[in-house]
Amino acid sequence: MPELILNPGKERSAMRRHPWIFAGAVAHLKGRARLGDTVEVFAHDGRPLGRAAFSPHSQIRARLWTFDAAETVDHAFFKRRVAAAVAARAALPELANQEGLRLIHGESDGLPGVIADRYGETVVLQLNSAGAEKWRDALVAALVQATGCARIFERSDSDVRGLEGLQARTGFLHGEAPEGGVVIEEHGLRLEVDIAGGHKTGFYLDQRENRRLVRELSAGRSVLNGFCYTGGFSLQALAGGAAQVLSIDSSGPALESARRNLALNPQLDGARAEWRDADVFEELRALKKSGARFDLIVLDPPKFAPSAAHAARAARAYKDINLLGFRLLNPGGLLMTYSCSGGIGLELFQKIVAGAAGDAGVDARILRRLSAAPDHPVALAFPEGEYLKGLLCQVV
Ligand code: SAH
Repeated sequence: MPELILNPGKERSAMRRHPWIFAGAVAHLKGRARLGDTVEVFAHDGRPLGRAAFSPHSQIRARLWTFDAAETVDHAFFKRRVAAAVAARAALPELANQEGLRLIHGESDGLPGVIADRYGETVVLQLNSAGAEKWRDALVAALVQATGCARIFERSDSDVRGLEGLQARTGFLHGEAPEGGVVIEEHGLRLEVDIAGGHKTGFYLDQRENRRLVRELSAGRSVLNGFCYTGGFSLQALAGGAAQVLSIDSSGPALESARRNLALNPQLDGARAEWRDADVFEELRALKKSGARFDLIVLDPPKFAPSAAHAARAARAYKDINLLGFRLLNPGGLLMTYSCSGGIGLELFQKIVAGAAGDAGVDARILRRLSAAPDHPVALAFPEGEYLKGLLCQVV
């Protein structure tokens, strides 16, 4: 097997079980390895560190599959890892019966670059690294065995594939397209999931618990949902008895899907829902001008800062929308605000939101800190896995 020898001192992160080996940590490669091949990793002094997938085009030059230098990376390996990830979810009562569930959360499940989301009988697989690409067949076989699902759809079209030297790939890997599309139930509501064309693998499973919280908070309140996508938060607000729900998104297809989702749930009072195709920044300004006020505002924008390099510009965008949000709240109103940018940490996000409240001239308090649902675990050795952070704030 080819051997990847690290520079002196560069073994430390692998010793702490962090799976990424950056190009700058590599002294040299002994032998030949192509895209995704398994290499043995050694510290400069010869200590074995584990086995990794080689990625010659990426700044992340290798991703460790295992920190056990004696563990073979083969079909059986993927069977064990996939089965463990599926079993870990089945062991948690709040996850065990979810129709929409993340089964594999990449590095934090010991499978760098692998995402698998289950939507009922359909599993959507996203391969984001050279190593994951190499073991596609093993992953598919392991997922079929561990879940008994009827079909697996590949959705490997994320931007990061380019950095790995991989082309986009989508299509069924197992089974066939379901008749009538994919629909899941979440907290008693039915939602369609566009596995082929929707964001991520079709749906934002990470917000599941926070959608439940919105439902609990909505009774009698006028609700604004900025960046509503297919209406997940909006429909839970209606289910929770919101007086009115105004939902804004700049994507026509997302809003069409949101309207279909409302129709899928005839028990909801559709007369209380309004969908607006608009830019949230502009629309919040216009709402302020018109004197509108809300009791609960949810702001879940897209990733403004894909990496730390974009942090400054992203910080201004987060400040802007939160400032506008605070200005639109009634006294005692709630702002539920998120950042899913890896480049903006929790501490910085809280500072930005505090600055926004200050500029809006309101006193606000944090009632809850919010994060992704537990099917998106964060390995302690891999803090990069924690991308979603949210604050529930109340103005005085
Ligand atoms: N909260 C949603 C997920 C939001 S994803 C859920 O729980 O399902 C972010 C959404 O923001 C996308 O639907 C995208 O179309 C929308 N978006 C991005 N920039 C926008 C802008 N400037 N104005 C309005 N919507 C925007």
